[in-house]
Amino acid sequence: MEGQARLKEARVLLVGAGGLGSPAALYLGAAGVGTLGVVDADAVDATNLQRQILHGSADLGRPKVVSAADRLRDLNPHIEVWTHAVRLDRDNALDVLADYDLVVDGSDNFPTRYLVNDACVLRGIPFVYGAILRWDGQVSLFATPDGPCYRCLFREPPPAGLVPSCADAGVFGALPGVVGSMQAIEALKWILGVGEGLAGRLLLFDALAASWREVTVPRATDCPACGDAPTITELIDYDWFCGVDADGLPLADPDIDADTDVSPGPLPREVDAADLARRLARAEPPLVVDVREGWEWEAGHLGDSMHLPLGELADGHDGLPRDRPLVLVCSVGARSAGAAAHLRAAGFNDVAHLRGGLMTWVREIDSSLTVL
Ligand SMILES: [Zn+2]
Repeated sequence: MEGQARLKEARVLLVGAGGLGSPAALYLGAAGVGTLGVVDADAVDATNLQRQILHGSADLGRPKVVSAADRLRDLNPHIEVWTHAVRLDRDNALDVLADYDLVVDGSDNFPTRYLVNDACVLRGIPFVYGAILRWDGQVSLFATPDGPCYRCLFREPPPAGLVPSCADAGVFGALPGVVGSMQAIEALKWILGVGEGLAGRLLLFDALAASWREVTVPRATDCPACGDAPTITELIDYDWFCGVDADGLPLADPDIDADTDVSPGPLPREVDAADLARRLARAEPPLVVDVREGWEWEAGHLGDSMHLPLGELADGHDGLPRDRPLVLVCSVGARSAGAAAHLRAAGFNDVAHLRGGLMTWVREIDSSLTVL
């Protein structure tokens, strides 16, 4: 009875009534979460039905929040369903979140994901993170009082266009059923205060291998959102931050004349994935230095590479050989570019970095490598 009363009092906001939001909403509603908010600006499309099980063929063309509300009220007439037929953005997010205790993020794009994170951190509301692509899913719990946030894990978004959307890459329909149900479980545990929550842990589900793995995600004291001295004190333009326009399409590259050297200091020298693969096959290969965080390294790294997280590299580089070419790598090529410039400034002469990072390596050279 006590638990049921807690559920009745809880107010949970579902960001997105799509693949992840559908099973999460159904189980939260069925469990008796007293107030469910649903935010989604889209209408139901026939291509959604393969995985977005809140909606049926009779709902085609209806706003997803309306379709979702009808289904949830039918499932459990004792709960309140509040609808927000908007795209969450910097102007409305803090207001929308203000009425809720917990957020379940079922968004399918990076701008919304970073927006949800920052808004939850600023509001002090935890959120259950879920993400899916093709056969892979991720689940965690972020922005709890002592736990990490999404930016502790992914400081910056991947370059626009590098990670395909679910619509482009496809999703195995039952996969969001698993991940969204896990999100509902974590939300219910948080509300009830039972069990071991996922704060500080990222669960990885591989549907093809039928396996779950877990990596530890510590809170980053230098996190720009939830760190000890946060620099994100208000919401920003997340489309711009992620390099996409309002439709999610990549913005054109910043308008820099390639023939003119406009940036001060040393320029990063780059190798692409194929070039690095050729160099590694030679008799005297360069040393690959992986500047990612420990949890990223644990999930997967190149053989014979050396691990030197960016934070340690900034403190010193005594362990690095000066008589061997170095190729710095990270996930998408931003941290490695900065690290390469740092080392050149420190007198290392033969330093390159992998353009596009290990994600490009996965795409072009070795798809079996796990890069988070
Ligand atoms: Zn953080």
